[in-house]
Amino acid sequence: MQPPVTAYIGLGANLGDARETVLSALRAIAQMDGVAHVRGSSLYGSAPVQADGADYVNAVVEVQTVLPPLRLLGALQALETDAGRQRSYRNAPRTLDLDILLYGDTQISSPNLEVPHPRMWERAFVLRPLAELVPAMVTPAQLHAVADQAVWLHAQR
Ligand code: ADP
Ligand code: MG
Repeated sequence: MQPPVTAYIGLGANLGDARETVLSALRAIAQMDGVAHVRGSSLYGSAPVQADGADYVNAVVEVQTVLPPLRLLGALQALETDAGRQRSYRNAPRTLDLDILLYGDTQISSPNLEVPHPRMWERAFVLRPLAELVPAMVTPAQLHAVADQAVWLHAQR
């Protein structure tokens, strides 16, 4: 088995009880085999980006994992399916979206998985919770670049 890798996962939901969906996904990630030391950000709210539908509830979680990247992706997609997610069209409203943002400093470019997540640095709903978890990882300039996107602290956990 490989040594544990620090990975960051982005969570988003904007259908149904989005807050409860994100909270239960955080609990499910904490209970996944091969995942330990889970540290979640606060919950944030955000307006949809290039998409329609209700506001999102977002969070970022840091994990230590021994799962290889595609196994981690598979486990996260199983949680999305459990949450009742339908894959209809790109950026469609979703009950639960789980993205691998970073997997150590590994770079992956495969049809099913791109890591670091190619759009993470453009998204305030990723950078704000990531900066809360690991302040040194996000520079003030990077936060400034997405400051026009509406993101607010949703609820303390
Ligand atoms: P998005 O998250 O960009 O809105 P989806 O959640 O619908 O899009 O994901 C579509 C596909 O993106 C998934 O089937 C998955 O294989 C692929 N994908 C590529 N890179 C990643 C990543 N870093 N994390 C999660 N999914 C990814
Ligand atoms: Mg996704």
